[in-house]
Amino acid sequence: MLMFVASGGLRSFTQEELDQFFDALSRLGIFFKDLEKDEVIPNALWAEWGYVAEEMKGERWLQALHPDDRERVRARFNEYKQGSDEITQSEYRIVTRSREVRWILSKSILFGGDSESTHHKMVAIDYDVTAMKEAEEEIARARADAEAHAREAELLREAGAAIASTLDRSRAVRRVLSFLAKTVPYETATVQVLEEDVLEIVDCSGPVRRGWGPGTVHALGDYPGYRRVVEAQEPELLVCPVDEIPELPEHVQGETISWIGVPLRAQAEAVGILTLSAPDCESFGQEHLRLATSIADYVALAIQNARLFEEAHRAAITDPLTGVYTRYWFIPYVEQEIAAALRDPTPLSLLVFDLDHFKQLNDTYGHPAGDDVLAGLIRAISGVLRAANPICRLGGEEFAVLLPGADVDVAQAVANRLCETAAATRYDCCPERPVTISVGVAGLDETCREYRELLSRADKALYRAKAAGRNRVVVYGAEG
Ligand code: GH3
Ligand code: MG
Ligand code: MG
Repeated sequence: MLMFVASGGLRSFTQEELDQFFDALSRLGIFFKDLEKDEVIPNALWAEWGYVAEEMKGERWLQALHPDDRERVRARFNEYKQGSDEITQSEYRIVTRSREVRWILSKSILFGGDSESTHHKMVAIDYDVTAMKEAEEEIARARADAEAHAREAELLREAGAAIASTLDRSRAVRRVLSFLAKTVPYETATVQVLEEDVLEIVDCSGPVRRGWGPGTVHALGDYPGYRRVVEAQEPELLVCPVDEIPELPEHVQGETISWIGVPLRAQAEAVGILTLSAPDCESFGQEHLRLATSIADYVALAIQNARLFEEAHRAAITDPLTGVYTRYWFIPYVEQEIAAALRDPTPLSLLVFDLDHFKQLNDTYGHPAGDDVLAGLIRAISGVLRAANPICRLGGEEFAVLLPGADVDVAQAVANRLCETAAATRYDCCPERPVTISVGVAGLDETCREYRELLSRADKALYRAKAAGRNRVVVYGAEG
């Protein structure tokens, strides 16, 4: 070494300066190895990490490496030792005596001997790049987090769009579950709605217990896992082994599975449960529980939307006073029946009836009494009609009944029965006073093939029944 330095033009160095020079090289991370003689001049870093020169010799230095890096570096080093004077570089972790892990970037070069194959001396420099590696890892973590958040935001956006695009509960739920599958590796999923302590499966995917398809109902209290999630309104992640997951087939019971149960909430009320399961212990983590919890809000929204829509629809097709259908339901129904009657030629008739002198009754006994009469009269008339012939309130005190399969003669007979029933019915407000109706009848024929015309003819017949003295039936076209 001294020879080398001396011939390199450092003859003017005193011994003390040479010592300082080597000390400086060592502090820079430079070290020397004679691979043949197994000698080492270590650098200061190794001393700092708690290793003495002996421990850098031969292959012993590899013991200081992180176990995960050791074989890779050993293979590389053995290959490199075969000779080449190229600079070689590798990155690995050193575990210091105080069990700290440091990332090292090491560059080395072989020299000496007569040829490449006899190089056996090595000079190398170690850089401690721990801070840089940690920064890289931090960046990678931040990027992974950002990507996960972007995926989650996209999932929630898709779920929101799916909910907004349909009022069909099953369809919305199915779409949300398929979006969720992109991010949460579940095998089985169920969505169940809660109605007074009874859970009903709305939708499911993957292998479920036989007989546990959509429409299946079971008591909330039957399964402790479900009850906990719904009552505490807290999501749960259960990991291996999980027994008694009721939605899963018997042969899966007691197997190693992971399970997530999330309450479905609307306005702070539990409206159901979302369950997910996977056939191993590793599939689900806290991030999946979090995602399932976010998506559950959308599933709950789909359920709530469908409920509100059903309620609004029911309200729109039901008359609140009498409980019969409104024209909102009746018109499409009549159109459908007319189409069927024309397709497969069968008779079809329409009755339209109106209370006689009802204004007078209202004026005499008051509007609330009028309401009672209206409701009572419709109850009585419903009693003589078949369930297949529902009454529709067209508006005011005018009602209609469609009679598919009935020609005008049959319809007239039915209408007469309605008139008689009305006339025979009595009410609290006015027990002595009969409340009669007038009825117009019209039938489908060659000249009348659609709803508006049929209604218009029945109305004209009704008008004639009124003109002829009320409490009677007139068939369109039959009057003199
Ligand atoms: P007509 O025999 O010619 O049909 O005479 P009418 O008095 O029955 O006919 P009009 O069309 O003059 O009056 C209908 C009345 O029905 C007026 C309206 O206040 C009353 N009516 C309509 N809907 C209701 C209701 O829901 N409740 C009550 N109490 N009255 C109603
Ligand atoms: Mg009237
Ligand atoms: Mg009227």
